[in-house]
Amino acid sequence: MKLTPRADEVKAVVALLESDGYDSATALAKDIIRTVGEQLSEREMYAWVWRAQEGSYQLAWGPFSSEFEVRSMAKKAGLGGDHMTLKLYSVGAMTERLDAKAPSPMCATCGHPHGAHEHPKQGGKCSIKKCTCKRDTKV
Ligand SMILES: [Zn+2]
Ligand SMILES: [Zn+2]
Repeated sequence: MKLTPRADEVKAVVALLESDGYDSATALAKDIIRTVGEQLSEREMYAWVWRAQEGSYQLAWGPFSSEFEVRSMAKKAGLGGDHMTLKLYSVGAMTERLDAKAPSPMCATCGHPHGAHEHPKQGGKCSIKKCTCKRDTKV
């Protein structure tokens, strides 16, 4: 997974590194890993799904940080068969909604899951094919 660090992610790790609250490098390392894990759960990722032919078993690899990265890997693997890029929506955003106890798991405007509105490249628009919903009313 190729990552371009984002400003808020860098800030969170720097805060740990500059903290005086750690007695050992091991304790600091553990907190850094936890923090980075939480930060990455906020991102939308991609999976590469493959099958040899229609009706056969499928395998999936990921996460990848971009569709470009998926396509590069699929090309490199040279497996033939069918390839698909699958968007993985943010687990962090889903968790936040569950904690906030949203009245419905679906968008009140279009009836698709809230997650369909969370891909950054869609700019908040619903990413379900042919859906024209531009706004997720959230909670
Ligand atoms: Zn919607
Ligand atoms: Zn929709």
